Amino acid sequence: MINYANHSFEENEHLYGPGKRLLLFTQGCSIRCKGCVNSHLWNFGEGTDATTTEIVRLCEAEDIEGITLHGGEPLDQAEGLLEIAKLLKTKSKTVILFTGYTYKELSLKNQRALWRISDIVVSGRYDESKRNIYLQFRGSTNQKIYCHEGKYKDYKINDGETVAILRLDQKGNMTRRGFETDELTALLRELKITAIDS
Ligand code: SF4
Repeated sequence: MINYANHSFEENEHLYGPGKRLLLFTQGCSIRCKGCVNSHLWNFGEGTDATTTEIVRLCEAEDIEGITLHGGEPLDQAEGLLEIAKLLKTKSKTVILFTGYTYKELSLKNQRALWRISDIVVSGRYDESKRNIYLQFRGSTNQKIYCHEGKYKDYKINDGETVAILRLDQKGNMTRRGFETDELTALLRELKITAIDS
């Protein structure tokens, strides 16, 4: 069983990895980096409970290349997510893990196993003093990327551009994923639009 905040199907390689992916934001983070844009995902248990089967069914609803585990902190729910990752691997799907932990910090067997089974791991605390919006996958320059054996072994990281996904619902509420430039922030301010991180 896992508890997650939300999910969506995304095709944005810069932010979430290659191909169409189920993007799963887990609920709860024990790390709590200063300046984290996902602080609304810090509290545990405030999301939706789901079984391994339910998440795998979600993945099967679309023709996806894999799953991207985001947070919140996925490794705080390593047991359930490891089961999901193992099942998806049997179906030739890939797994990308975003975590605030480094490998050395992992004390639990399930956490280390989830790290190792993931095709790409983006690791390390968000450090707002090292913020850089032009990095692929990462929000600050101290964070590291590990491409493991398998489909993405020779994956080339493409820094130097930035992506912000802004979505407007029918009520006029705007949500944001990724990183906006100062120019875009100024434009939104001028238009009196407040974008909420989702
Ligand atoms: S580990 Fe990720 S979700 Fe948790 S506080 Fe740091 S940046 Fe935010």
